[in-house]
Amino acid sequence: MKFFIHHSELSDVYDKVVAGERISEADALRLFASKDLNAVGAIADFARQRKAGNRASYILNRYINYSNYCILSCQFCSFARKKRDADGFQLSVEEVVQKAREALQLGITELHIVGGLHPSLPFSYYTDLLKALRALDARLQLKCFTAIEILHLAWLAKKTVAQTLQELQAAGLDSLTGGGAEIFRQEVREAIAKGKESAAEYLDVHRTWHRLGGRSTCTMLYGHVESLADRVDHLRQLRALQDETRGFVGFVPLAYHPENNDIPVKHPPTGFDSLRTLAVSRIYLDNFDHITAYWVGLGLKLAQVALSYGADDLHGTIIEEHIFHMAGATSPQLQTEADMLKAIREAGRTPVQRNTFYEPIRVLEDGQPAETVAENPAHSKVLEDNLATA
Ligand code: SF4
Repeated sequence: MKFFIHHSELSDVYDKVVAGERISEADALRLFASKDLNAVGAIADFARQRKAGNRASYILNRYINYSNYCILSCQFCSFARKKRDADGFQLSVEEVVQKAREALQLGITELHIVGGLHPSLPFSYYTDLLKALRALDARLQLKCFTAIEILHLAWLAKKTVAQTLQELQAAGLDSLTGGGAEIFRQEVREAIAKGKESAAEYLDVHRTWHRLGGRSTCTMLYGHVESLADRVDHLRQLRALQDETRGFVGFVPLAYHPENNDIPVKHPPTGFDSLRTLAVSRIYLDNFDHITAYWVGLGLKLAQVALSYGADDLHGTIIEEHIFHMAGATSPQLQTEADMLKAIREAGRTPVQRNTFYEPIRVLEDGQPAETVAENPAHSKVLEDNLATA
């Protein structure tokens, strides 16, 4: 491979990466513009190997959306509903706890909880929810709320962002989610998510959380109206904050899905685009340890290929995904652990079950059976009952 890269137009970028030098925004733009996907992928694979070795991770988790009612109407969003809509929903604390209780029987270690900006739920709903889930199982990691939800909760509680985060932390919050970053350039935000928080506000919520000792992930929604330069600018701002706080545990690029919203992009991200985006992210974000291939948006087959294009993580079992599926994702709503293990092993990596912070829980060396792995949890009565309540 080295021979081919040395004879490619990207050999200088490869040399920088091998020397441990940081690449520039101009380099990242050249990588994005290159049609030599294999060269870009090989550089990313070198960078991945140096960070993650031969391991690739996944998590046993469950998504819960407590409500899809939202006071905003982001143009790209297929998930949000108004109170007048017949398919709006909100869950009581007990209903969320029941879903968590059932998922715990499947061995999950993380709950990932987000919702719309609810028009009337009080701040105490959110702290009660966290306390009830924490009481259910002290080891369960609670990864909850996007930056815009935190701003909404701060407004509800009439507190500063730092005070709000401290109260949520005291109630049991372990990690913020990375959602809502979209694309940072303001003109793009106005075109796809008018009314949402600015890039500075998104970054400041995460900065504040990191200063409180918290950790989080971050995202980039790509493949709608943004330019490649906008993607590089987005990565630049994430890399700068990571230099400052070291609080991001992973980066999750999200492929745009265009159905049921006001931005009907004719050409959503292709496989080529998704692989190069993951690869450039790995190469440019040299201060991030983990890059996740989000199978909900990519499909497990492309996410598996992405393990050779910079990604070292396949995300999780999820069990019940709404946001991407309401936007037209055709992937299944859940992923079995067995299928993720197969995908990772076939790609030549050693699977590692991780926790919310990408720390290893179990390393499944070659040939070692996953003794606790349910071959097909979709057939589990617990899961069927659980999905029936979705
Ligand atoms: S993206 Fe989030 S904030 Fe925007 S409308 Fe949808 S749920 Fe509401």
